[in-house]
Amino acid sequence: MSPFDDEWSWDNENPMKEVALARLRQLAAHEVGHTIGLAHNFAASTQNRASVMDYPHPKLFVQNDTINYESAYDTAIGVWDKQAIKYGYQLPSNDQSEEDLLKAIIVENCDMNLLYVTDADARPVAGAHSLAHLWDNGESVIDAFAKNLFGSEK
Ligand SMILES: [Zn+2]
Repeated sequence: MSPFDDEWSWDNENPMKEVALARLRQLAAHEVGHTIGLAHNFAASTQNRASVMDYPHPKLFVQNDTINYESAYDTAIGVWDKQAIKYGYQLPSNDQSEEDLLKAIIVENCDMNLLYVTDADARPVAGAHSLAHLWDNGESVIDAFAKNLFGSEK
C-alpha cells in the first residue's frame, strides 16, 4: 500500500484510501454503538464479524503475490448488534409483556449461538477467555494467524 509512486494521490482511487475509509466507517459505527448503550463484544470476531463492537483486525490475504485488502473491514453492522438493539429498544406488542419480549430475544440469541464476551472477561490479566482476543479474526486465533501468514486455511 505504499503511496510512494508517481500515480499516488488521495484523489485517485487507491486501496490505501479505501481501507482507511472502511476503517473510519467501522470505527464510527462502533462509537455510535457505545453512544446508544452497547458494550464491547470481543467474541464477535469469532462469529463472522457479528458485531461492530469488537476490535477488528483488518482481514488481509495474499492473492497472486499481492496483498488483497477487499475485505479488510466489514461494511455493515452485525447480527449481534441488531439483536442487542432489539433487546434495548424494541417495545413489546400489545399482547406481550416486556419480560416475555426480552426472554424471547435471549432465546433467539441462543438459537443463533451468538456469543458475548466483554471487557471484564477479556482485558484482565486473568481473563484468558479463548474467544476474547482483541484485534483478531476467525473462529481460532491460531487458524487466523496461519491463514493470514500463509494465505490459506492452514
Ligand atoms: Zn469501544
